[in-house]
Amino acid sequence: MRAGPRAPLWYPRRRVDAGLHPARWWRPAERGKLLCTLCPRYCLVGEGQAGFCYIRQNHGGQLWSAGYGRSTGFAVDPIEKKPLNHFLPGTRVLSFGTAGCNLGCAFCQNWDISKAKIDQHASEISTPDEVVQLALRTNCDSIAYTYNDPVIWAEFVIDVAKEAHRAGLANVLVTAGYVTAEARGELFEHIDATNVDLKAFTEAFYRRVTYSHLEPVLDTLAWLKRETSVWTEITTLLIPGLNDSEDEIGRECDWILEHVGPDVPLHFTAFHPDFKMTDRPRTPASTLGRARQIARERGIRFCYVGNVHDAEGQTTRCPGCSATLVVRDWHAIRRYRMEGNRCLECGTEIPGRFHPGRHDGTERRTPGLRYGVTLN
Ligand code: SF4
Repeated sequence: MRAGPRAPLWYPRRRVDAGLHPARWWRPAERGKLLCTLCPRYCLVGEGQAGFCYIRQNHGGQLWSAGYGRSTGFAVDPIEKKPLNHFLPGTRVLSFGTAGCNLGCAFCQNWDISKAKIDQHASEISTPDEVVQLALRTNCDSIAYTYNDPVIWAEFVIDVAKEAHRAGLANVLVTAGYVTAEARGELFEHIDATNVDLKAFTEAFYRRVTYSHLEPVLDTLAWLKRETSVWTEITTLLIPGLNDSEDEIGRECDWILEHVGPDVPLHFTAFHPDFKMTDRPRTPASTLGRARQIARERGIRFCYVGNVHDAEGQTTRCPGCSATLVVRDWHAIRRYRMEGNRCLECGTEIPGRFHPGRHDGTERRTPGLRYGVTLN
């Protein structure tokens, strides 16, 4: 049940940008302001102003989304790039985002779009049907809502996701999980898989480095496990000296084990200096390896490293017999040996969504990638 009034079927007399779309999840507040209830930032948006994410705006006493149907560009990615290692391995996913973001990460790796305003960034106008047709034309199995945080353009995510399901495509949400309890049910209703960024395991990091809070993200993760069937993987980008201590990694793993369980794949990925954080070095491969070792010792059954070449750290092994099931190199599949969701050797069930049938090929490469695909 949404908290805000129903999206208007009429447009207010005040003229608004033709690119604006009625927003949901808001309610009127004092002195003509509107309270946006989509993310835990709960912005109070004055007349003619935008919320922190920029793309939700108050015009004429209504909240509008400037992100609906306005992609900053499309790309065909391997699903491993999201990263998702236990969801349709080796398939292609049509990926897109919009401008704006509801977090303020100093290390943002997509800052050119997440910090852009719609009118500063070339935006492609598209309808849900056009996005789905593009995914079909480019032989994708799924659509990923990604690059900036799709929470802030939830209205468009929902409309595209419904259309994608009608066409037999899966939906993937790549998010920081910073969404309110009142909006998350509808946002995830048509989502099949998600990767949630757990950016650190201290409130101090969240507050100082991302301008947000840890607790709502943990809430989303626990809720995904408890209340939904959305396939979930977690990513933590390790930044030297900020969130990579053995104690913090251990506490993060303990929390995941208790609230999400040992089967959720956990990815530790390497940071590179970017945006406002250029004073830190790249994450050494040894830090990722140590983090993976800690996770496995604590009981996380599937832990991977990313943004580095490390075949062993990216390999899926059977927890029953240690057989090698999926060998990855960066985002490419080098070997795929499974029977549906089971180990080819001992029959142990592997959590996730894998391809039906028997696959014992020694070579299975991710199809060639295409960047900058366009609607027409
Ligand atoms: S979605 Fe945007 S406008 Fe709404 S509370 Fe979050 S940052 Fe503010």
